[in-house]
Amino acid sequence: MQSRRVKAKLVMLLSSVICLHTTSASAQVTQGAKPPSPVPTTYTIGGKPVAGGCESCAEWSIPHAPVKLHGNTWYVGTRDLSTILITSPAGHVLIDGGLSVTVPQILANIRAVGADPRDIKLVLTSHVHYDHAQATAAFAALNGARVAALPWSARALESGVMPSDDPQFGLAFDNPKVSRVQVVQSGDTLRVGSLIIRATATPGHTPGSTTWSWQSCDGGKCVDVVYADSQTPISADGFLFTAQRGLAEAVERGHRALETMPCGMLVTPHPGASRLWERVAQGRAVGADSLLDKTGCARYAQRARAAYQARYAKERGR
Ligand SMILES: [Zn+2]
Repeated sequence: MQSRRVKAKLVMLLSSVICLHTTSASAQVTQGAKPPSPVPTTYTIGGKPVAGGCESCAEWSIPHAPVKLHGNTWYVGTRDLSTILITSPAGHVLIDGGLSVTVPQILANIRAVGADPRDIKLVLTSHVHYDHAQATAAFAALNGARVAALPWSARALESGVMPSDDPQFGLAFDNPKVSRVQVVQSGDTLRVGSLIIRATATPGHTPGSTTWSWQSCDGGKCVDVVYADSQTPISADGFLFTAQRGLAEAVERGHRALETMPCGMLVTPHPGASRLWERVAQGRAVGADSLLDKTGCARYAQRARAAYQARYAKERGR
């Protein structure tokens, strides 16, 4: 009984820390719609329903109108959870399906930008925590889209439960299982028609955290878009980043990759982590494309490195 209470408390804590990003500034651009209530999803860990459910999911489900980021790249997610659609005549790519409960509003956003959800050919995730990957299976099932992921994430998606070396193991909710995930390696590219999407390992937040990058073109002007994964070193109690073999080196390789990859626009799984709504509002105010920023990825990497260094120092008692 007591352990159940403790677990419920942990879950409430988790739904506030799972990605830990600010949301207040984005409230300015909320479309005025209320989150769906109640959230009709049963949250489980290891297959067992979790008392208390997902405290943050109602807020994460607040709708947002789709936004053209550049060319064929669209933001079709909710206000606080990114879903990215990249369109092409040969089919579309969807990155981060978000929560199961918000699938209908994301489908509506996809249709609103003139795309047919049945033309989604490839579904990707930044990382497999439920706030980004719970709907991966649903989007893949729409019309048999391929799902691809780095090895660690592929295993987690196929099993539907978090591997024990996830920093938030025991706290992170299960996802619906995804059948048949194509395993890719860091540096590999995936193609849908003329679209080419590159996977880069940027581990830390999860061991399988992935940054996806591609070129988005508009009237002959092409921009390197980088959808960089969360870089917050958050964990369940007792997890030590410094105790994971090779992790610190892999984390640093990811940060260096983010600093050096071609980057004309940074987008993140939680829009607040890269001030997306402030930048959109700024662009509307001055009539310029304020989303373009060649220094965005490098600055994001530098902030991430500082956060990890602070975490390592704390773990070492310094
Ligand atoms: Zn996460």
